[in-house]
Order: sequence, then C-alpha cells, then structure tokens
Amino acid sequence: MTDSNRYLSFSNLQTGRPVVAYCSVCDRRFEARPEADKRADDLILKVRADFDAHKCNGASESRGVAHFAREARDSGATERHR
Ligand SMILES: [Zn+2]
Repeated sequence: MTDSNRYLSFSNLQTGRPVVAYCSVCDRRFEARPEADKRADDLILKVRADFDAHKCNGASESRGVAHFAREARDSGATERHR
C-alpha cells in the first residue's frame, strides 16, 4: 500500500537499445543493456527486478513528511520555536 505511488517509468523503449527506466519516487535510473541472447522482454524484466530490489530513498510516507517539513520551514514555521 505504501508503494502505491511508486512505479517504474520507462523512457524511450526501442528494440536493440538499452532499456532505461526511472523510479517515479526517487528518480533512480535503471538500465539494462541488450545482449545477444536476451530479448527486449528480458531487459524489461531485469530492470523491473532492479527496481524491486532498490532501496528507495523516497518511500511515499517519508517523502510526504519531508515535503511537509520543508514547506513548514519555508513558510516560517520555525519562528514559532524561538
Ligand atoms: Zn525509488
């Protein structure tokens, strides 16, 4: 459930080219280069496996909190703590 906002965003899928995709949350880049015995589907599966395995530094919950904290700071909320 916490991963509902996280998805793999593929860019520029072309046969014979490396498969490149990005995590929708932390923007981490995943890449799988074509190999002689691999089909495009295999590359996508590899990228997906890397995506599933990566340690996302922007898990939806903490990201929301961080975003909130930054906004609060920017809007002068820290003044109240003085
Ligand atoms: Zn991520």
